[in-house]
Amino acid sequence: MQTWFGKKASGGSPPPSPRKDRSGLRVGIPKVLNVWSTSQFWVGFLRDLGIESENIVFSSDTSEEQGREFGKGRGTVDCCYPVKSISGHYGELIFGQKKKINIILSPMIYSLPSFMRGHVSETLACTRVMAGPENIKAGFMKESDVFADNGIKYASPFLSMAEPEVVPKQMYDCLKDIFGVDLAECEHAVEAGYRELRAFNKKMRDASREIMAWCARENKPCVLVLGRPYHMDPGIGHEIESDLQAHGYPIVWLQYLPIDDDLMNWIFGEEIKAKKIRSALDISDVWTSSNSSNTNEILWGAKVAARFPWITCVLRLSSYECGMDQPTYTPTQKIVEAAGTLFFKFGDLDSTKPAGSIRIRIETIVHYLAKYSDQIIQKKLVLLPPDCPLLAGKEKTLAAVASNEK
Ligand code: SF4
Repeated sequence: MQTWFGKKASGGSPPPSPRKDRSGLRVGIPKVLNVWSTSQFWVGFLRDLGIESENIVFSSDTSEEQGREFGKGRGTVDCCYPVKSISGHYGELIFGQKKKINIILSPMIYSLPSFMRGHVSETLACTRVMAGPENIKAGFMKESDVFADNGIKYASPFLSMAEPEVVPKQMYDCLKDIFGVDLAECEHAVEAGYRELRAFNKKMRDASREIMAWCARENKPCVLVLGRPYHMDPGIGHEIESDLQAHGYPIVWLQYLPIDDDLMNWIFGEEIKAKKIRSALDISDVWTSSNSSNTNEILWGAKVAARFPWITCVLRLSSYECGMDQPTYTPTQKIVEAAGTLFFKFGDLDSTKPAGSIRIRIETIVHYLAKYSDQIIQKKLVLLPPDCPLLAGKEKTLAAVASNEK
């Protein structure tokens, strides 16, 4: 079992007092779906309520063993694998802990605090994601209430995370009896949660920028992963990008691409001036029904990959039975390939890692990367203004970057 990020919350005003002693409560969070992109919010929120870091327990990465051992016989009707796999996570938190969990917290996330908010129509979660907790819960309630039988309280707040102003009330409505919280405490804890999430996202974007800056300075290619946040789960995305990284190609994920003004202006500035798009995060030129948060981000990532010279290859990951991804396959491929960037899709990912076929495809990708990357970089460089902001501090060497990462 994994307990993440053991540091104390910092900054912000002091918590409302007096508050209940919750230091003995253990809270389990199924590490599934959009918890992968909001985990730091949950850490910040719970710590602010007085839950000790070591008592915030995320379930393990998804695995076939987890599903077999803890989710067997609990399946419900959903056929999309990222949702189906949640049974194993619930079961692990109920049956697989040395130290008992008191509360399972499994949010129904309706909308996401995406960096694209304000530039797109909406930032909603996939409906299967939103309803996933209720769906999976049913498998643990069909004969008896397995949560109650094991002395566990089940909390599943319905959350519009894209609208921070309504989240405290949504939290309060669901958690008031379970955690014994009042509205003021919820407001304070929600603020702490968003603060932690923002800080984490910035750290990750800065790290991606360093990787991309190194590629620019050394004139070396990197690979962009276009997938949903939960494809970072080794049991959902099957670590395909790690297999490629082992061949020496740096990897960046679209969720953590840098969005600094200087870089965005370099990549999209000419198109903004020409009024082809309203901003660097506008995707209306390629995707008009911009309601789904993760889909929007995938389309935007494809646009970045098409333009950023040192991203010479895109790995497109998609899960079995994903209805949300189906309409995006052709547009993302066409966008990415428009200026010659390599595009490889791994679709229909399910519970089993097809290791043999992945290995053969990785060898193919490595071959194409080695053969065509220089050409792709040159071809894309001539389409952009000469003053790449990543080359401004050219005196920084690879060693400096490496030491920053320590
Ligand atoms: S976006 Fe696709 S993979 Fe994700 S929950 Fe929805 S249908 Fe399943």
